[in-house]
Amino acid sequence: MKAGYLLVLKSVISRGETMSLKIQSVKGMNDLLPGQIETWHRVEEVLRSVAWRYGYQEIRTPVVERTELFKQSIGDQTDIVEKEMYVFDDAGDVSLALRPEATASTVRAGNQHGLFHNQQQRLWYMGPMFRREKPQKGRYRQFHQFGIEAFGWLGADIDAEIIRVGSRIWKELGVENVSLQLNTLGSPATRTDYREALYQFFSSHRDTLDSDSQRRLERNPLRILDSKVASTQELIERAPSILDFLDPESRQHFGDLCESLERSGINPEINVRLVRGLDYYTSTVFEWVTDKLGAQNAVCAGGRYDRLVEQRGGRATPAVGFAMGVERLVELISAQKEDSSHSILDIYLISMAGQQIAVELGETLRDAGIRVCEHCGGGKIKNQMKRADSSGARYAMIVGEDELKQGNVQLKDLRGKEGQQQIARTDVVSSLQKRLSN
Ligand code: ATP
Ligand code: MG
Repeated sequence: MKAGYLLVLKSVISRGETMSLKIQSVKGMNDLLPGQIETWHRVEEVLRSVAWRYGYQEIRTPVVERTELFKQSIGDQTDIVEKEMYVFDDAGDVSLALRPEATASTVRAGNQHGLFHNQQQRLWYMGPMFRREKPQKGRYRQFHQFGIEAFGWLGADIDAEIIRVGSRIWKELGVENVSLQLNTLGSPATRTDYREALYQFFSSHRDTLDSDSQRRLERNPLRILDSKVASTQELIERAPSILDFLDPESRQHFGDLCESLERSGINPEINVRLVRGLDYYTSTVFEWVTDKLGAQNAVCAGGRYDRLVEQRGGRATPAVGFAMGVERLVELISAQKEDSSHSILDIYLISMAGQQIAVELGETLRDAGIRVCEHCGGGKIKNQMKRADSSGARYAMIVGEDELKQGNVQLKDLRGKEGQQQIARTDVVSSLQKRLSN
C-alpha cells in the first residue's frame, strides 16, 4: 500500500518535472519570427516573380522520399549521403529520408508523371531541405532552397538562361558583390581521362592527403578537389586542370556558354577546381559566391546533369539547373540594408460605444484593402490609445458615444502631423484611401 502510494507520487513528480521543462527547437533548425519574416516575404516574392517571367512552372514534391533516391542520385561518396542525411525506418521495412536537396525529387516526380516524354520542361521549386551539418552562420540543419531546373535542352543557350535568371535575381533584390565562378566537367569521356590523370597525381602524393581524400582516391578522385582541408588544398593547386582534357564537343559547349554570357554582360571567373559536391553533374558547373557572408560564401550553385533522368529510369533527357540558399540571400540583404521599420498596420480601431458598428466599419475598411486591427479586451481609453501607439499603426480610429450619435469617427494621426479630426462614417473609406496613398 505504502510502496504503491510512493510509486504514484514519484510518477506525479516526474510528470510535473517533464511538463515544466522548456523544450527548445532542434539545433540548427530555426524559428522565423515577425520582424524577420518581412524580408523573407520580399525575397520569396522576387524569386517567384522572376521564375514566372522566364516561363518556369512551380513543382512541389514531398519533404520525405525513399533514402535510396538520394543515395543513387547524389552519390554514395558525398558528404550529404555519407554523413548528413536524416534517415529513419518507416514501420521497420522501408528506409526514408528528409530531403537534403530537391533535384533528385524533381527528377523522380518528372519520371513518375511522364513530364519528360516528348516534352521540354522549365520548373522551379522552393522549400525546406535538411542536412545534419555543423550549425553555424549561414549553415543550418533545416534550410530553404529556391531552385530552377530545365529539362530537354542540350545547347549552351539554356545554360546561359539559367545563369541569367540568377543574375536578374541579384539585380531585383538589390544584392551587390555576387560573382560567378564557372567550370565544365566535360563529357563522360573527358571525365574518365581526367579521373585517371587525377588518380596518378594524387596517388603520387598519397601521404599528404587528408584521410577523407585518401578514401575517395580509389573510388572518385574528382571529389578530392572539393576538400576544404588546407594541406589537401595546397596539393589541389598543383593538380592537373580539366580544361586540358576537354573533347571538342565539350570545348565548343563551354565556349558557346562563355560567349553568350559575355554578350549579356556577365563575366564569370573560370575556376578549374570547381567540381561541386554532388555526383550527378556533367559538363557546365557554376557557383555564385560573395565575400559578404564569411566562410559560407556560396549563395547559389548549379550545373548540367544530362544523365540523371536516364539513370533514374527515365528516357535520356538533358537537364540543367541551380539551387539557391534562401537563408544566405536573406542574410545578404539584411547585411546590406538597415531594415526600415516596417509599419504593419494602417488603422488601430478603438470603440468606446457601438461595438457592432465598429466591427462593421473594420470589415468595410478591409474590403477596401486597408489594414485594420481592432482593439480587443476593453479597458480605459488612455490604455487603448497606448496600445494603438505601440501597434505601429499609422492612425487610431475611435468610435465613442458622441461619434456614434453624430455618425462620425475620430481619426488620430499617430505618426505624422495631421492631428485629430472628425470624419463622417460614410466618407471613411475614400478619405483614408486618399491619406494612405500620400
Ligand atoms: P556549401 O559548400 O556551402 O556546403 P553546397 O555545395 O553543399 O554548399 P548545394 O548542395 O549546391 O550547396 O546547395 C545550393 C545552395 O544551398 C548553397 O549554395 C547554399 O547557398 C545553400 N545551402 C547548402 N547547404 C546549406 C545549409 N546547410 N544551410 C544553409 N544553406 C545551405
Ligand atoms: Mg555542403
